[in-house]
Amino acid sequence: MVEPMFDQYGRHIHYLRISLTDACNLRCVYCMPEHITFRRREELLNDEEILRLVRIFASLGVDKIRLTGGEPTIRPRLVELVRQIKQVPGIRDLAMTTNGLLLPELAFPLKQAGLDRVNISIDTLNPEKFHAITRWGRLEDVWAGINAAEAAGLTPIKLNCVVTRGFNEGDVVDLARLTLEHPWEVRFIELMPFGGVAEFAQSAVVTSDETRARIEAALGPLEEVPGYDLRDPARPYRLPGAKGRLGFIDTISNPFCEGCGRIRLTADGKLRLCLLRDKEVDLLTPMREGADDEAMKEIIVRAVWEKPWGHGLAKKVIPQLRVMSQIGG
Ligand code: SAM
Ligand code: SF4
Repeated sequence: MVEPMFDQYGRHIHYLRISLTDACNLRCVYCMPEHITFRRREELLNDEEILRLVRIFASLGVDKIRLTGGEPTIRPRLVELVRQIKQVPGIRDLAMTTNGLLLPELAFPLKQAGLDRVNISIDTLNPEKFHAITRWGRLEDVWAGINAAEAAGLTPIKLNCVVTRGFNEGDVVDLARLTLEHPWEVRFIELMPFGGVAEFAQSAVVTSDETRARIEAALGPLEEVPGYDLRDPARPYRLPGAKGRLGFIDTISNPFCEGCGRIRLTADGKLRLCLLRDKEVDLLTPMREGADDEAMKEIIVRAVWEKPWGHGLAKKVIPQLRVMSQIGG
C-alpha cells in the first residue's frame, strides 16, 4: 500500500531528483570551481542502494523521478539502472537533466530502457561563448545530443539556459527564437549562489523580468500560456505563432515554494529537502549499518515533514555545503 508523504505545510511530496554522480565532463563557471575534487566511488550510492531507495520512495508515493548530476550520462551501467528504476511499481515518469554530450550514443538505448524525456542544458548558440561558459565544451556536441534525443523520442524536449551577466544575457533572444520552428520548451533559469561559486553567482544574476523584457524588445510581446501548473517552476509563455514555448524559472526573484513537491537525493546518499537550504538527512549511513525498509521509511517521512519553506538569500543565507553539481538542480 502506498503511504503518501506530506510536509508540515501540507505540501504533497512526490517528486524525487536523484544525482547519479557529482562528477562531470564539463566545468560550467556557475556550477563548479575549475579545480574540484570529486568523491570516491565508495562514498557514493551504488546501483543496488539507489534501487532500494527508489522502491522505498515509491512506497511513499513518489511517482516522478529525474536523474541528474554532475553529469548523469557518465555513470557506468546507466542504461541498466534506468531500466530497473522504470520497472519499480509506481514510477510513472522518469526524466533526466543532462548536458547532452553523450546523447548521440545513449539516447536510443535510454529511451528503450524506459527513460521518458530529457532536459538539455545549453546557455548560448555562440560556440565561443559556449566554450567560455563550460570551460572547454563544444557547442556542436550539444546540438548532436539534442538531435539524437529528438530522434529517439525523448520528448517533449526542454532546453535549460542559465542566464549569467557578462556571459550570455544577450543570447537569450536567439535561444527564444528556436521555439518558432521547434516544438521545444526553452527555459531561462535565474543564476543561484552556492558556496564555492557564490560570490560570482551573486554578482551575475539576471532576473527573469530582465530576460523577458530583452526577448520582447527583440521578438515582440509574449503570450502567457494558460493552465499554469503551480508545481512546475517554469512560468510558461509563447511567441505568437511559435511551435514551442518559453519558461522562466525565477527562483531568486519570485520563489515558487508553494507548489514545491520536490526532494533531492545526492550522489553520496543525503536527502536534501530544499535546493537552497543546507538541511540534509543522511540515508547512506543507516542503510549501510543495516536499517530495514521500515526504519528507512521512518527516517524519510520524518525528514520530509521538516522540508523548509522559502530560501534565505535575501538575508544572506547562502547554501555553503555543496555547489550545484553536487546537488543536481
Ligand atoms: N550536468 C547536467 C546539466 O548540466 O544539465 C545536470 C546537472 S546540472 C547541475 C542541472 C542544471 O543546473 C543545469 O541546467 C545547470 O545549468 C543548472 N545550474 C548549475 N549551476 C547553477 C546555478 N548556480 N544556478 C542556476 N542553475 C544552475
Ligand atoms: Fe556539469 Fe551540468 Fe554543472 Fe555544467 S551544469 S558543470 S554540465 S553538472
